[in-house]
Amino acid sequence: MAPRIGIVGAGPGGLTSAMILAHRGYDVDVFEKEATLGGRNASLQLGDYTFDVGPTFLMMTFILREVFEHAGKNLDDYCTVIPLDPMYRLDFGEISLEPSAHHEKMRAQIARLFPGEEEGFDRLLKREKSRYEYMYPCLQRPYSTAGSMLSKTLLRAVPHLSMGKSLYGVLSDYFQSEELKTAFTFQAKYIGMSPWQCPGLYTMIPYVEHAFGIDHVTGGLSAISEAMAQVTREHGGKIYLSTPVKQIETDSKKRARGVILESGERHSYDAVIVNADFGYAATNLFAPGVIRKWQKKTLDKKKYSCSTFMLYLGLDTLYDEPHHQIVFAEDYKANIGDIVSEKRLSDDMSIYIRNASKTDPTLAPKGHSALYILVPVSNTRAPFSWDEKRTREYRRKILDRIIARTGMKDLESHIVEEKCLTPDMWEHEFNLFDGSTFNLGHNLSQMLYLRPRNKFEEVGNCYLVGGGTHPGSGLPTIYESGKISANLVSEEYPLS
Ligand SMILES: Cc1cc2nc3c(=O)[nH]c(=O)nc-3n(C[C@H](O)[C@H](O)[C@H](O)COP(=O)(O)OP(=O)(O)OC[C@H]3O[C@@H](n4cnc5c(N)ncnc54)[C@H](O)[C@@H]3O)c2cc1C
Repeated sequence: MAPRIGIVGAGPGGLTSAMILAHRGYDVDVFEKEATLGGRNASLQLGDYTFDVGPTFLMMTFILREVFEHAGKNLDDYCTVIPLDPMYRLDFGEISLEPSAHHEKMRAQIARLFPGEEEGFDRLLKREKSRYEYMYPCLQRPYSTAGSMLSKTLLRAVPHLSMGKSLYGVLSDYFQSEELKTAFTFQAKYIGMSPWQCPGLYTMIPYVEHAFGIDHVTGGLSAISEAMAQVTREHGGKIYLSTPVKQIETDSKKRARGVILESGERHSYDAVIVNADFGYAATNLFAPGVIRKWQKKTLDKKKYSCSTFMLYLGLDTLYDEPHHQIVFAEDYKANIGDIVSEKRLSDDMSIYIRNASKTDPTLAPKGHSALYILVPVSNTRAPFSWDEKRTREYRRKILDRIIARTGMKDLESHIVEEKCLTPDMWEHEFNLFDGSTFNLGHNLSQMLYLRPRNKFEEVGNCYLVGGGTHPGSGLPTIYESGKISANLVSEEYPLS
């Protein structure tokens, strides 16, 4: 009989492990508390409008292709991938940039708007290619033992860490203009960090964007989760929706033996993979006394990503606005300081607006559109709660800014469907520790061996996947976590 694997959560991390292990012949069960697949990468349906709950930028699509290959499938048989050019518009008020992954186009744009700075762009591509080639393989390996920190791959990468330098610090070596520095550092927000605190090695993120581009998937990025679930089922794996797990059952030697559902049902497994956010899982999914190292008091001392305030608007019109656009705060550094250090709401906020209906007609009826608005805000460690009044007032300020700074002057008169998500909802409805939408922070002290490991050191037969574990948040690295854990399971529970 094939080893039985239970997976808690059908987010991108859990589904990656599920489809790979099911393909290899394991007997896989996935338990998802929600009625929809995908977790933060689920689809949200409001009337006739389809939104992605979370991820909208697909980067390094070759990693996704690779995990599909590990599951014996071809991504293109399941998803239609559309490269975006330009990748996005960056609106700085006086100036706006439309970065392209076509280097000649990007270089010409820099030369036109910031004469002389194009030389910095050439240097960035060259230097950061080398950092990426040394660093990325370090993220593709497990760090189950302290000795793994001495691997040749990691030792070779050490000179590329830019120790002691922030992402902003590294970019200052390439560009003089603040707008260009922001255009290549705002990506720290993809992992919920400040460019002034995010480790310099994360220059890899703007690099991979410019090296490989940004893709959209027809139907929204949630179509990837649907495709992964389909592959899992095609290989005989089972996915149980609306089935919350109450506890991971352990024996006296602290080895996972199965799961207990909220319904009281028990299921036995040879190994359990946890995709639910690590901080939430460590504090909620184990019997008292099982977790020693990662108790709440330890987790409370760690650094976490920011959160996001979301508006999903179904519009009875389609604006000629970019697929992705970021409207920056007038004082971007102060805005980031408010979110990360001061933990207060910025009136001068930065806003990400996604008008995907421009590229993808499947998301709304003809002539209509599904507008997604994301505003980075503090996580729930901030000393205020998101009551109805605060939520209403912040929504008002966000809409005012969008109306003032974009071509959507009559936006309000076109809203026919609307949903809002606050940090409190990320915490309580999505089970995210402190409502941190991008999980545990990515400081050097919380990476590799020092981040929750894919082979969970506290509980035997238990593996971790997802943004709160190694290698970290963001779809490509989450797919890597799913692959790493699937490989660890395959090594420890070989098929006969
Ligand atoms: C607003 C937002 C925008 C983002 N944008 C991008 C982007 O553009 N590009 C990018 O690469 N990344 C982005 N990310 C980051 C990241 O890629 C996604 O958050 C991703 O979905 C995280 O995947 P995951 O597997 O770690 O966890 P999740 O997607 O959260 O999956 C965990 C699953 O576990 C389930 N679960 C929790 N508790 C239980 C329980 N007790 N029993 C059963 N099931 C349970 C949850 O319901 C969920 O389905 C974004 C994130 C957010 C929130």
